Amino acid sequence: QAKKLGGDGYHHFASDMHRATQQRMEMESEMRHALEAGEFELHYQPQVGADGVTILGAEVLLRWQHPSRGMVSPGVFIPIAEESMLIAEIDRWVLAAACSQIRAWLDRGVEPVQLSINISAAHFQQRGFVAFVLDTLEHYELAPECIELEITEGALIRDVAFALESLRTLRGKGIRLAIDDFGTGYCSLSYLKAMPIDKLKIDQSFIRDITRSGRDAAIVEVILQLSHQLGLSCIAEGVETTIESSWLKARGCQAYQGYLFYRPMPLHAFDLLLRRATEEGFRALRA
Ligand code: C2E
Ligand code: MG
Ligand code: MG
Ligand code: MG
Repeated sequence: QAKKLGGDGYHHFASDMHRATQQRMEMESEMRHALEAGEFELHYQPQVGADGVTILGAEVLLRWQHPSRGMVSPGVFIPIAEESMLIAEIDRWVLAAACSQIRAWLDRGVEPVQLSINISAAHFQQRGFVAFVLDTLEHYELAPECIELEITEGALIRDVAFALESLRTLRGKGIRLAIDDFGTGYCSLSYLKAMPIDKLKIDQSFIRDITRSGRDAAIVEVILQLSHQLGLSCIAEGVETTIESSWLKARGCQAYQGYLFYRPMPLHAFDLLLRRATEEGFRALRA
């Protein structure tokens, strides 16, 4: 009896594994197709200053409009793309699309804001990454200050010397660099000392509980202090309530990103926001 159950269990396990692998491979080839078929699009989530109104920039977030599955979240497809190095192609597509959009705004007389672009750790560590970024900026005739690259702690620790050189080159050209999901990775504080970065993005998992958990509050407070002392900028991610934003503001936080202010939005909505900001000034946005 036991043996029979064990046998069934194994078969279930094996076929589950098989199915998972098959699904992953299927999604991989669908992503390849999606790149060519134009199923990916950029959404934009504005980042605001301490007044809650001034738009400091926007994070570019990838969306996949799948013909039959509907909207697939990047939380689902990015990890699969990361396993196959397809991520580099996707990241490059995003970077080029974002730069092309900034160029379009400039050509139309719309004042663009700085766009933050997510770079996967696997892609960051590839030879040729830095050159691709610089070539893309040059191709669209953009000043390096137009973009900010968001990398995670994982991108820095695998090959420290290589990471340091890449960051130095990028920052030397004037490209802004932010550490995404700060506090959730494996970075030791000595990296912060050594790495030429501009900004820390406090992970939303800490923000979520600042008003309930003394530990999370302490961590966020320390990150804010650390960034001030090191002369880095700092932005709070995932700010959803006014209680959270007031708490952060009282501790000197200068930049905010979260549903309380704006959700990620498609191009037409963000475009409208930028045009209003250009024509009427930021104050009009909340009126
Ligand atoms: P991330 O870079 O940390 O992006 C922030 C995520 O938090 C986004 O999820 C955003 O929609 C979400 N978010 C923003 N404000 C709030 C809030 O107030 N509450 C809550 N609950 N969530 C909020 P999204 O768009 O689903 O992206 C998930 C992750 O996928 C990103 O995390 C990033 O790691 C990755 N990703 C997205 N686009 C790209 C891309 O173009 N390239 C790469 N390599 N990764 C990307
Ligand atoms: Mg990000
Ligand atoms: Mg993040
Ligand atoms: Mg993330």
